[in-house]
Amino acid sequence: MRTVWQQLLDRLAIGEMVVCADETRRWDKKQWQETLGLGLLRETELAESIICDQCGEGHWAGIHWEVPGVKACFGCDTEGVIDIEIDRLRQWRMDAGRAAGLTAGALDLPGTVEMLLPDRLWRLGRRRLGGRYREIFFGIGAGVPVSAMSTAIRSSIGAGSALLLTLGSKANPEGLPAGQHLLDLASVCHVENDRLVLDVDYIEDRLAESGVPARKSTASIPAAAGTTWRQVSIIVFESFMEITAGGTVREVAFSELGVEQASQPIELLKCFAAARGTLGAEKIKDLVAGASLPKARVLRLRQLLQPLIDIDGDPIEHNRKAASYSCQFEIRLAGDDGFRTPAGATWLDLTFHEREDGRIIVSVPEKRKFRAHGLNVDGRGTGEVAERSALTSRTYSLEEIGLRAESGRLTEEGHEFVTLLRASGTLARRGNDMTVLQLAKRLRAWTGLDGEPLRLIEATGSWSAVFACSSEVVQTTK
Ligand SMILES: [Zn+2]
Repeated sequence: MRTVWQQLLDRLAIGEMVVCADETRRWDKKQWQETLGLGLLRETELAESIICDQCGEGHWAGIHWEVPGVKACFGCDTEGVIDIEIDRLRQWRMDAGRAAGLTAGALDLPGTVEMLLPDRLWRLGRRRLGGRYREIFFGIGAGVPVSAMSTAIRSSIGAGSALLLTLGSKANPEGLPAGQHLLDLASVCHVENDRLVLDVDYIEDRLAESGVPARKSTASIPAAAGTTWRQVSIIVFESFMEITAGGTVREVAFSELGVEQASQPIELLKCFAAARGTLGAEKIKDLVAGASLPKARVLRLRQLLQPLIDIDGDPIEHNRKAASYSCQFEIRLAGDDGFRTPAGATWLDLTFHEREDGRIIVSVPEKRKFRAHGLNVDGRGTGEVAERSALTSRTYSLEEIGLRAESGRLTEEGHEFVTLLRASGTLARRGNDMTVLQLAKRLRAWTGLDGEPLRLIEATGSWSAVFACSSEVVQTTK
C-alpha cells in the first residue's frame, strides 16, 4: 500500500490538486497529519458537491445549505434528502511550490526556489551530487512533455549539469540533452519524523553511473502470451545475470542496464538471489546501504526488471502479513546448486523422503498461476488468472545436498540426517550436539530458508524435524 505521501505525489503528478475529506477517511490518520504538518496542502473552500454514500450508486450530488455555513444536505433519488456533516465538505489544495520547497530543503539547498514554468517547473538550487556541481530542478509531468522542461532548463542555465527531479514524467526519456538527468522523485523520497527525506546515496549512485559509457538499449526478452513470472528463472553472476524465459536464455550485463554492479538495485538483486527469492522488509533495510525504505528499493528493482522481459504483472510481490517481498520468478546466485525453494515456502512445507536407492526426494507445494479457460461453474468468464498449488518433487543424491563426501562416505551430519529420516523426524541428541547444529546449518544453506529446520524438545531431550521425514529403507539393527 502506498503511503499517504506517495498517494498525494501520485495525484500531484497528474495535476489533480484538490483532496476532499471523504477521500482522506481511508487514509492512515498519523500519516495524514504528518503530511498536513509538512504544509503540502492548504485548506480551501468547502466542497459544493459530494459523492452519495447512501444508495450505493456513488453518484455526485450538489450540496444545499439549509442554514448557510451551519447545516447542509444533499438529495438522493432513492434515499431522499440526506443531512451531511460539514467536516465531510472540507477540502485541501496541494501546493506544488511547497513540494518544490520541501525537496530543496531535503537536499540542504541554500537560497530561494525560483519558478521557471508556472506550476510546472522550479529551480531549487545548486550543490555537489554524484561527483560534480549540478543545478537541481523540480518538475511536475501532468501533460507537460519533458522536452519543454528540458528547454526551460537550457535557457536557464545553458549547457551546465542539471538534475531534474520529477513527478509523473516518463523515466529514461529519449532526447534529454547530455548533462541533464532525470529521476522520479516519488521513488527517492519518503516522510520520516515529520520531515521529507531524500535518498541522497541512491541519487549519487545514479548520477555517478550516468558518467559510465552510455546505456546500450537492451531489447526486452520476448515471451509467449500467457507466460507468467513464475516461468522465468534468473541466475545472478558478479557482473551479469542469465535470464531464462519461455525457452530463451539471455545474458544481460548490469552495465547494459545503465547501472553499476555496486548500485543499490543490483545489490538488492544479489540479496534476493542469495535468499532464493524472499526477503523480509527489515532485512532489506539492513542489507542494502542507503536511506530508502524497503518499498522504494523494491520499486527500483522492479523498474529495472520489468522492461527486460515481456511479461505483465508484478515480478516482486509484497506479502503484507509476513512483511516480506517475494520474487515471483526463480532466482539464485551462480554456483549455488541448492534446492530451488519456491517463494514463500517455510520448513513446514518441505518433505524429505529417502528412497530405497539412498537418494532423497524433496517435495514442496508450489503455487502456480494459470489462465482458466472456458466458463467456470459459477459463470465467471474466460481468461481469469487462477492459482493452484501443485506438489513439486525433485530427487537429489546425498552428495548434492552436501551430506556425503566424494569418497562415498556419509559425513557425520549425513549420518544424522539419514537417521532422522528413518526415525520419522526425531533424533535422540543433546541440545548442544555439534553435529545436529551443523546439520541444521547445512540444510538452511541448501534450501536458502531462514528458520530452524530442527527443534529441540526439552521434555524428551531430543530433536524434532520441522519438515516431514520418511524413508523406504528398512531400519536394520546396528
Ligand atoms: Zn444516492
